[in-house]
Amino acid sequence: MGAVIIDGAAMARQVLNEQKAAAGKLALRGCVPGLAVVLVGDDPASAVYVRSKERACREAGVQTFDTRLQAATTTVDLLQKIDELNGDSRVHGILVQLPLPEHIDAVTVLQRIDPAKDVDGFTWRSLGALLDGHALLTPCTPSGCMLMLERTGVPVAGRHAVVIGRSSIVGKPAALMLLERNATVTICHSRTPELAAVTSEADILICAAGKPRMVTAEMVKPGAAVIDVGINRLPDGRLCGDVDYDAVIGKAGWITPVPGGVGPMTVAMVIANVIAAAGAAAR
Ligand code: NAP
Repeated sequence: MGAVIIDGAAMARQVLNEQKAAAGKLALRGCVPGLAVVLVGDDPASAVYVRSKERACREAGVQTFDTRLQAATTTVDLLQKIDELNGDSRVHGILVQLPLPEHIDAVTVLQRIDPAKDVDGFTWRSLGALLDGHALLTPCTPSGCMLMLERTGVPVAGRHAVVIGRSSIVGKPAALMLLERNATVTICHSRTPELAAVTSEADILICAAGKPRMVTAEMVKPGAAVIDVGINRLPDGRLCGDVDYDAVIGKAGWITPVPGGVGPMTVAMVIANVIAAAGAAAR
């Protein structure tokens, strides 16, 4: 029997509808949720991501404040812009699209965002709160993965979860969220020996390495929930995940497709964070 396909696009639509209802309630109280999207330079992939986030905002009744800056923008200019947005009461969330041009000090810029408006969940305050079990706004991609597990009914407590990848935006926060839900968690990375031996013990496998189809059927435990975060562009232009989907679908219990899995859920979780931030500001 094949795996249950977790339809991230459908689940994201459901989340957006719920958020639209929440935004409507806030608007009745005089608070229209607002998101400022900061895009520096003209990276085409970043422009696509920004457009998809803005489209989701429109669908959910979130006002957007576009900030498009030239590639030559300096760190100082960008910090000034962040300060302005931090002080703007119409803006409840600030999102700086990554990657920033190399000459910009991305760490300093991201850490300048008011944690109350940190809808990406990347500030040290947000990440520290997550580490300490008092989550504020949380990183959207791992939050989306967790919601997919929850709404699909995948058991997490007491299960062995393996995360491939240890970035601060996906792997590490995903591991913390799984731990918070009482999974036993293993984090793997490029120096992990015998990766297949580790992954094949996983009841839940979250793949966030950015390596096309690196997770083969032999690396997956029969019946496991496989969440594919990877977005990779193949030489022929098509997108694929980190999981060899066609092979693993026959062995896993649950699987997410790429595209149409974690990607749309990430966007929906950005909106959920904006509404949460607006709700906190309206209190
Ligand atoms: P990243 O910062 O490049 O981190 C990749 C991680 O994978 C690193 O920790 C790296 O280990 C590990 N890794 C690389 N090759 C490996 C291998 N062969 N075996 C085991 N571990 C390996 O990437 P990221 O930002 O976390 O993103 C990961 C993937 O998710 C990318 O494809 C990205 O495009 C995608 N992504 C998708 C979404 C979405 O919405 N769907 C959002 C964010 C990212 P080391 O630390 O040892 O180098």
